[in-house]
Amino acid sequence: MRILLTNDDGINAPGLYVLEKIAAQLSDDIWICAPSEEQSGAGHSLTLGRPVRMREHAPKRFSVTGTPTDSVTLGIKKAMPGPPDLILSGVNRGANLGDDVTYSGTVSAAMEGALAGIRSIALSQVYAGEGHGNNVSFSAAEEWGAKVLRPLLDAPFAPRTLVNVNFPPVAAADVKGIRVVRQGFHDYARGSVVEGMDPRGFPYYWFGLHGIEQTPGHRTDLEAIAEGYISVTPLQLDLTHDASLAEMASRFEA
Ligand code: MN
Repeated sequence: MRILLTNDDGINAPGLYVLEKIAAQLSDDIWICAPSEEQSGAGHSLTLGRPVRMREHAPKRFSVTGTPTDSVTLGIKKAMPGPPDLILSGVNRGANLGDDVTYSGTVSAAMEGALAGIRSIALSQVYAGEGHGNNVSFSAAEEWGAKVLRPLLDAPFAPRTLVNVNFPPVAAADVKGIRVVRQGFHDYARGSVVEGMDPRGFPYYWFGLHGIEQTPGHRTDLEAIAEGYISVTPLQLDLTHDASLAEMASRFEA
């Protein structure tokens, strides 16, 4: 089984090394293609306005001067001798839960894999507390990663679907188990905006992720994480709200 690894925190991200350890338990044919710089919040963006460079750091290990989506595309089409059997994106430093998934470079890299018809799974390690982003424990992800992935390796994945996995912010021994749950939602999709003044006296704004209210709904990813479980959520790229189709169409009938 040939596996492509990527990560939106960059080619040197600690979570990518954790993912390498997880993937090594599943296969010995591991390829890496990840952005050269952190791309958290890049979503599903594709670099169109400038050229992208790919650098080979070591055999099977590449960085790309672009987004996570660019990395998956170049990984499949240029770095590897053929398409992988599996794409793993992560382990992200921080949660990708509820409606945050569309901001996520980690989840979007898996979306790109799903679009290419390849089994794709995003993995994220939730951490607790503000200001600790540089000192995140990946204990739960490292210990449980292969256990979560193995049953998914031969599970049927519908076309244009992917799986989003989040590990709770507890030590591996305190993880309560694994729950397959639906995507939850935040009470409102706003983080903090910090306002400051630059050295030349011009104002700037800096988006943060803190202060997003959430009410963990029943049987959602947010609830599973809040209760100390690993969340496993199948996602689809078709965002159509089927229940609205008929009513909306009726408004356009002559
Ligand atoms: Mn990230």
